[in-house]
Amino acid sequence: MEVRKGIEVSGIVQGVGFRPYVYRLASELNLAGTIANTAAGVTIEVQGANDAVASFVTRLPQELPPLARVTAVAVRDLPSNGDRAFRILPSRVGDEHRALISPDVALCADCLRELFDPADRRYRYPFINCTNCGPRFTIVREIPYDRARTSMASFRMCPACQREYDDPADRRFHAQPNACWECGPRVELWDGHGICIEAADPTRAAAESLKAGAVVAVKGLGGFHLAADATNPATVDCLRERKRRVGKPFAIMARDLACAEQFCYFDDIGRALLLSPERPIVLLPKRQPNSVAESVAPGIRELGVFLPYTPLHHLLFADGDFPALVMTSGNLSEEPIAIDNREAIARLAGLADFFLVHNRDILLRCDDSVVRASGGRVRQLRRSRGYVPVPVFLGEELPPVLAVGGELKNTICLTKGRHAFLSQHIGDLENLESYRFFEEAVHHLKSILLIEPKLLAYDAHPDYFSTRWALAQSGVERVDVQHHHAHVASCMAENHLEGKVIGFALDGTGYGTDGHVWGGEVLVAAYRDFERAAHFSYVPMPGGAAAIHEPWRMAVSYLSRHFGESLWDLRIPFVERLDRTRAEVLLRMTKRGVNSPLTSSCGRLFDAVAALVGIRERVTYEAQAAIELEMAIGNSRDDTGYPLALVPDGEGWLIDTRPMFEALVDDLRRGLSAGVISQSFHNGLVEGFARLAALLRERTELIRVCLSGGTFQNVYLLEHLRARLEAERFEVFTHSEVPAGDGGLSLGQALVAAHRMR
Ligand SMILES: [Zn+2]
Ligand SMILES: [Zn+2]
Repeated sequence: MEVRKGIEVSGIVQGVGFRPYVYRLASELNLAGTIANTAAGVTIEVQGANDAVASFVTRLPQELPPLARVTAVAVRDLPSNGDRAFRILPSRVGDEHRALISPDVALCADCLRELFDPADRRYRYPFINCTNCGPRFTIVREIPYDRARTSMASFRMCPACQREYDDPADRRFHAQPNACWECGPRVELWDGHGICIEAADPTRAAAESLKAGAVVAVKGLGGFHLAADATNPATVDCLRERKRRVGKPFAIMARDLACAEQFCYFDDIGRALLLSPERPIVLLPKRQPNSVAESVAPGIRELGVFLPYTPLHHLLFADGDFPALVMTSGNLSEEPIAIDNREAIARLAGLADFFLVHNRDILLRCDDSVVRASGGRVRQLRRSRGYVPVPVFLGEELPPVLAVGGELKNTICLTKGRHAFLSQHIGDLENLESYRFFEEAVHHLKSILLIEPKLLAYDAHPDYFSTRWALAQSGVERVDVQHHHAHVASCMAENHLEGKVIGFALDGTGYGTDGHVWGGEVLVAAYRDFERAAHFSYVPMPGGAAAIHEPWRMAVSYLSRHFGESLWDLRIPFVERLDRTRAEVLLRMTKRGVNSPLTSSCGRLFDAVAALVGIRERVTYEAQAAIELEMAIGNSRDDTGYPLALVPDGEGWLIDTRPMFEALVDDLRRGLSAGVISQSFHNGLVEGFARLAALLRERTELIRVCLSGGTFQNVYLLEHLRARLEAERFEVFTHSEVPAGDGGLSLGQALVAAHRMR
């Protein structure tokens, strides 16, 4: 018997090869009907034998093209008609405006095969792509997403490419960046001054320079990388010097999975992340010894590794015989990544010896994403290329809100319906370049999503650039959101929680409602508001921001708080090393309250401990001391923990670190190693936080706990606290889709603002 069914599919189903996929499936099952793009996704009608139609409905969501994401499928019965064939209908004007744009995607296996097939017409073509792979987000000027609105507009397809583009059965049907040697973009190799070097094969010439130890700026998907042979210590040192990047680890791109395995350990999740179409940088435990230069990631037991994701990367590795390249953002430290050829020459002059450029413009900068797996889940550290602009799906409908994030690791977030669109990583809003990038990102996200926000959410810190930007906008309602409340709300949002939770928000810095620097906060929070239920006792930060760069200042501050004048009699190496005159100047400053803001920061507590145990007295990048303190922990399962005192304070508690420091100083006197002390410190925090959660459960009857804030990028703390709380029958919620750190802040801000305005 003939039946006909209508099927509405929503999600990311446009620009990802969905229509050809449905066309093939319908043809295979001998079904007639139609498919068309709609505002919400696609609408399909299929007609044919009963069991064939049933099989179509079952298989449709099971065999999706790799980039499609289906959020809903609705099936209804229709009267059958005279259809005898399956047709792809043209889209109605305006319908595609609301469809979701796909992120940039790593080269697919089919295109990779063609790239190295001498018989293929795209043999060694650096811009090969299809509907399953290639650039998207970074080449879109505006929507609807078609070639005329991308940076491919200036390339007219040759007849062969056009045929593929028009053929619904072809893998390149409506692949907007479709191109070939005949008609598409070209690569050139330039010298350090931007003069084009005559080379029969610029890619091969670049690979040879890399092999010879040169630094080559390579134009990628979302910006330029500075590339250098990762196994050549002299080259890596030279890159560090030129980039003025002292200790911060570089990521490396390994030639393939087998090479990655020589440098690092990974399990199935790690392998899946390395091979995923998003191709993030994956932080993995280093294998020792390995052939990567020590200076790639000094003092760190992890390596950031990713695999080639553009055809150009694959060609470079095929032509050079290096197992890995350092691939770091093409910028000076902390500036946005360079995207334009001439901009790259101007900004990277002196950093790169050569420039491997091309004439397909990058319209939007987008750094590499950084992830790690822990506790069986993916943890985003920097959510950017490959993930953006895939929305975070929400548990509720939100009005259009623009949330502008914090100051460091800034991202912005636009909401609409059940979607929260986070921007790519914008970075630290501390220089003019980043301000511009921030404004670009706001403008671009609004225009590709066609969202005009009704509400603007921003951090309560009066001096953040994002705050000042928000306050300067007119014609829109504004809501300021406390930093740690936003952290907890972002964890609630990605886990679709409603009502109240216990929220641990641990990080370095956030503006508190009392004007002090918060950062070790336990909240009882809902989206709408929060109560500060507990926090670390305040200590002065001698010198303000200087205390962030110089952890030894926090160590002095903590010792003085807990030991007073007798700190000078402590027989521990830290005090013996200390420049007493300088330290006394600091202490006088704190006593008079000169440039010594009070803080409850968890990050500063980590800094103090790292300095005390001799790991690091000065840092060269954010959170370095805390990261190295965590890395010092060995494989021991010792669960000794330094005690924390929980002192009742009104309705809540103060977390007093005095007993912790007394025990720690004892261990220093006994000469215990930094690793052992670090572990006891971490265990002490886990124990203290678990007790605090239990006290709060007694008071509030809440059993759901959210863990958020940059400190939870510390795997030891995250996983031990999670396990401990779960053992005590709490329901524990952590971050997976957005970073626990400030990169996830904008999501929480949006939720808080929307709920406040209800
Ligand atoms: Zn492909
Ligand atoms: Zn062509």
